[in-house]
Amino acid sequence: MPYTYDDQNVFAKILRGEIPCKKVKETAHALAFHDISAQAPHHVLVIPKGPYVCYDHFALEASDAEIVDFTRTVGEVCRMLGVQPGEGGAGYRVISNAGQDGVQEVPHLHVHVLGGRHLGRMLQ
Ligand code: C5P
Repeated sequence: MPYTYDDQNVFAKILRGEIPCKKVKETAHALAFHDISAQAPHHVLVIPKGPYVCYDHFALEASDAEIVDFTRTVGEVCRMLGVQPGEGGAGYRVISNAGQDGVQEVPHLHVHVLGGRHLGRMLQ
């Protein structure tokens, strides 16, 4: 079944500059900004600029350049926040909610990068 992208979603509006965001980093294919309702001392969202609903849509239809840029941007954000465990940071969590069961609020692919506190155990 083809994916249907709603270009009136709030992240599409942010990408078009119709709604402001607190930008952390922007690349050719990705944008990172602070979540307006932070759930941790560090809570940044990273989105691709292309019209992808969720991770599996992105993985199926995005170009290699988009996938590499997006993936590297997530890692760069972790380093910018100073949470990367390999180099002295205390760690982080990357989450992407999809669809109804994933409780996805905004239908434009985004990953949450959370850090700055102990995040507790999510999977038992
Ligand atoms: O549930 P989902 O993963 O779709 O979460 C969407 C996130 O987008 C929420 O954490 C919400 O606070 C954030 N958001 C935002 N800026 C907006 C609208 C939503 O950071 N203008």
